[in-house]
Amino acid sequence: MMWKRLIQWGLAAAALALVVLGMTQLNVRENPQPAVKQSAKQDYQRTATYSPAGGRIDRHLYSQKQLRALTAITHGNQYRGNTSLDAVTTRHVYQLDGRNLANIVGADGVLQLYNESHFMTTRMVKDAAAFWNQVAGTTVVEVVSRPDRSDEIIHDGKSSRSVLGGQTYNGRGILFYPGNWRIQNLSQRNQQNWKEAALIHEIGHAFGIPHLGGGPLGTNASKAGVQTVELMAAWSVGRVGSPPENEQGVKSTSMDAATLALAGLSWQRSRRLAGWVLNSNRVVLYDNGRVTTTPKTN
Ligand SMILES: [Zn+2]
Repeated sequence: MMWKRLIQWGLAAAALALVVLGMTQLNVRENPQPAVKQSAKQDYQRTATYSPAGGRIDRHLYSQKQLRALTAITHGNQYRGNTSLDAVTTRHVYQLDGRNLANIVGADGVLQLYNESHFMTTRMVKDAAAFWNQVAGTTVVEVVSRPDRSDEIIHDGKSSRSVLGGQTYNGRGILFYPGNWRIQNLSQRNQQNWKEAALIHEIGHAFGIPHLGGGPLGTNASKAGVQTVELMAAWSVGRVGSPPENEQGVKSTSMDAATLALAGLSWQRSRRLAGWVLNSNRVVLYDNGRVTTTPKTN
């Protein structure tokens, strides 16, 4: 089996998963992929990047009918969702374009984060954790007070590329580049919400959630320069082309929930998450330091 995994790693792009921030827009580059080398125990990532052998999901948590319903939710449309996740239903693998989607959750089924970033304050990381926990309907991420208790560390660095940061999957944890934050003429609230959207996005990648911007790789929106309300795609606020709805803050979508449910089947300790999405609606909203959940009916 080892050679198969090695081939997969060889095929996986070495590029980091990055949120790209130009002067005015948030774009997205890469989806969760196994690191080129298995890379635990590095400075900023204590838990090895993981995906199950062959990408095979735990089939005990949902019926085939429920899996079909979950993947149907992830389809979305041209600029929302990700059609590759059909493989969960058809082949029972959590893969994107034939490659395993990886996570950094670890053996306990809860992502432990330690924060060293000043750009993303610990309060913001706690809010992002609250956001995902409310989407999951249970604790899937927590902020720990010691680096040696974390799966990975959020920290700041520098990059000459015009990127805001990203989930590295290669031992460097979640990295942000504060020097590349060049948003001007935007209210404090909108800036706060935009930063938080980026943080929530990167934590989503740590769960193994790929981009949800439409098409087989979830990258239609970013490729077309389309900004969306989907936080796992190109989210923006206050710019030409930003969805007016984003003025309200950062909202979860049923696609986030359904994809988290599918990702949870690929974790080292598989978990049933966000199962509510099968029969009800729920929207988690982050707005300027406040996280709320609304049962939504429409
Ligand atoms: Zn991303």
